[in-house]
Amino acid sequence: MRAFLRKSWQKVLNYEIEDTIAAIATPPGPGGIAIVRISGAKALSIIREIAGLEPRPRHAHICTFSDKNGMAMDHGLVLFFPGPHSFTGEDVVELHGHGGLIVSEWLLSSVLGLGARAAEPGEFTLRAFLNDKIDLTQAEAVADLVNSGSREAAQAALRSLDGVFSEQVKTLQKNLTEVRVHIEAWLDFPDEDIEPAKVVEIQDQLKESVRFLEHLRSVARDGVQLRDGVDIVIAGPPNVGKSSLMNRLAGYDAAIVTPIPGTTRDLLREHLSIDGLPVTLTDTAGFRVSSDPIETEGVRRAQLAIERADRIFWMVDVQDDLDKALEAVRCEFGPDSAVTILQNKIDLVSENADCFAHENVTIIRLSALTGEGISILREHMKSLAGFGGEVPGTFSARSRHIDALQRAENSIRNAKKELFGNKALELVAEELRFGQSALSELTGAISSDDLLGEIFSGFCIGK
Ligand code: GDP
Repeated sequence: MRAFLRKSWQKVLNYEIEDTIAAIATPPGPGGIAIVRISGAKALSIIREIAGLEPRPRHAHICTFSDKNGMAMDHGLVLFFPGPHSFTGEDVVELHGHGGLIVSEWLLSSVLGLGARAAEPGEFTLRAFLNDKIDLTQAEAVADLVNSGSREAAQAALRSLDGVFSEQVKTLQKNLTEVRVHIEAWLDFPDEDIEPAKVVEIQDQLKESVRFLEHLRSVARDGVQLRDGVDIVIAGPPNVGKSSLMNRLAGYDAAIVTPIPGTTRDLLREHLSIDGLPVTLTDTAGFRVSSDPIETEGVRRAQLAIERADRIFWMVDVQDDLDKALEAVRCEFGPDSAVTILQNKIDLVSENADCFAHENVTIIRLSALTGEGISILREHMKSLAGFGGEVPGTFSARSRHIDALQRAENSIRNAKKELFGNKALELVAEELRFGQSALSELTGAISSDDLLGEIFSGFCIGK
């Protein structure tokens, strides 16, 4: 089915896609076991030479691995998975030996000496994709699972690998194909009357697809945050304690703290790990009008960082009026902005640390100076990325997925508009084609070679 992809891949690769490949699939160094993995047509003949046996499919054989001179290299297990019922879709053999660099390197060089070639990064998974064992989102999930920094991220990757994301994309594709069949038929037979009831039905179907895409995009966004972490900007008036909070969360004096307003002029970025959740935290210059050109540039940069952030922590002094802070936030960022208000310096008013909702905005009371309320803030940061709580449907995703989902959604919205307004069927058909093609990029049914190259080069060798 992916024959066309295999051909186009072969053109851009400087190695043979039909070669038998081998790699050490376990991390280098001492360990319990080391696994050499082989995939391709020569896998079985290589193993006959090294293990001196005829392996039964999906059985573990204990044996001695010998080099070409008959010298024993190691004792271990041989597993044989005949294609197409294997991870790559080809004959796959695994040699499980003792962990350690020397023995596994020796084993690998013997395998290479018998006609295999060293695998490129991600080449096993690439073959699984090209042999239709998995689609592109699942291939990406393999890398995400291997690289996951937390249990939540690993679970989300596993869901993608199990096809949760792909299945939803396929359902959407099916619905759109049904709609396209009608539209194309109307275009092919322009003299036939178009039933008004059918138009309404199709509009409803498109409306449903848009709703489904909105939902999918929001779940995918959670998935991106689980994988890539959250980007948080601390902003607010000068001297409320933004840099102090930055230092408190970073665990060292990353920012200069003084009682002088306007101390922070440029952006200061720290990459933190909150119980495994990657967080990029940016401290900004306080928002105020200044005649100092450096400070004015700092405020401009702060505004840019805020536009790109997943969340804004708007910090105020707890002694300042909360409703005024809310008003400032709404006026500055709009009514539905992703903002948490931090009321700092509770130590000055003997207030307790707290987290509550006020007019649909989360408010956290804390003290950057004493550290009170910091654990509440850390929990809040985790909850922003669906961390720690049960988020049953989340699957791992990447920003390219969000982009493709957004383009598909835009096209379907346009198609709906054209169908409702001008009844310009050619435009409706074209928009639906665009929408479907954006969705196909997700699963890899349509992909540019550049994109595939980028995805698989991010893998480790042996995967
Ligand atoms: P920024 O301008 O918003 O970055 O504020 P800074 O972090 O530079 O702090 C301004 C002043 O407020 C400094 O003197 C800090 O020591 C002080 N400050 C910061 N956080 C607290 C706090 O929680 N309690 C008290 N009492 N003072 C604080």
